Amino acid sequence: MKYSIHVPSTLEEAFTTRSRVGGQYLAGGTVVLAIKKPVCDLVSLSRIPGLSFIERKGDCIEIGGGTTFDELDRSALLKERLTALWQASHELAGPQIRNVATIGGNIGSMSPSADSVTALMALDASVRLFTMEGGKPCRRTVPIRELRLGEGEIIEAVVIRTNVDSSVFEKVGKRNAMAVSVVNMAVARVGKKVSVAVGSAAPNVVFCRRTSEILSKDCTDMMAAKAAILEEISPKDDRWGTVEQKRIVCANMLEKLAGEVSA
Ligand SMILES: Cc1cc2nc3c(=O)[nH]c(=O)nc-3n(C[C@H](O)[C@H](O)[C@H](O)COP(=O)(O)OP(=O)(O)OC[C@H]3O[C@@H](n4cnc5c(N)ncnc54)[C@H](O)[C@@H]3O)c2cc1C
Repeated sequence: MKYSIHVPSTLEEAFTTRSRVGGQYLAGGTVVLAIKKPVCDLVSLSRIPGLSFIERKGDCIEIGGGTTFDELDRSALLKERLTALWQASHELAGPQIRNVATIGGNIGSMSPSADSVTALMALDASVRLFTMEGGKPCRRTVPIRELRLGEGEIIEAVVIRTNVDSSVFEKVGKRNAMAVSVVNMAVARVGKKVSVAVGSAAPNVVFCRRTSEILSKDCTDMMAAKAAILEEISPKDDRWGTVEQKRIVCANMLEKLAGEVSA
């Protein structure tokens, strides 16, 4: 299969090229180039300056959409302030994939097992999207919990508040590296407010609203929290695990991670 790879040097050019030729954006290519049904036209984001960064801005940390998981893994700021996202980055795939795979690609892949998305949902992150309207650049920022990517929109950055007191991410896979999660989970705490997100246990990564509310009221009410999370997930049997396995892992993980973030 032959690809045409377009290599724009600005976001404007990337957007207009993709509108003209169709196809898909290409970042690290670890998903796009692995798809069995190939896409002919790929619009590379890799030569656009300013898409790869990790910066503290006021009470937020901003991460460029083109930042690789290796860069996230090596960030002391992330490890200290946003532990769940650092752990998700540290455990994603293996070193070769982390060298090229980007956070924008992880979000853009819309996978139910996208590890960083689970962490970002628990951390209540927002996503800054770039588009063009009437020939002019246009940006909107949306909470990742409500994210629906519009046609051709580019994930320019992820914005996360640093007021998080504690956060943790864990995944269970069939082996320690290069494994799709059987279940992944992140729990974050800001004051008494607890937020729980789960991946690989529904068609999308799920922010568990009811479970989060129960733990925010009483972080020791594990019976009610476990009952709630089992209502909020909808796992299917797949080659990574059975429904029963996923439900058991999910309930046990919740108890462990909620205990780890509690004050
Ligand atoms: C062997 C292997 C192991 C893996 N292990 C894991 C794992 O443990 N955990 C995990 O979560 N994932 C894993 N993955 C999946 C993949 O590596 C990640 O999802 C990765 O983050 C994708 O990033 P990328 O830059 O390679 O995206 P690409 O493949 O370049 O793109 C993926 C999708 O996102 C879109 N896209 C990319 N960048 C943007 C942007 N800035 N704005 C809008 N759309 C964009 C593309 O058009 C495409 O639809 C694995 C993949 C492989 C091949």
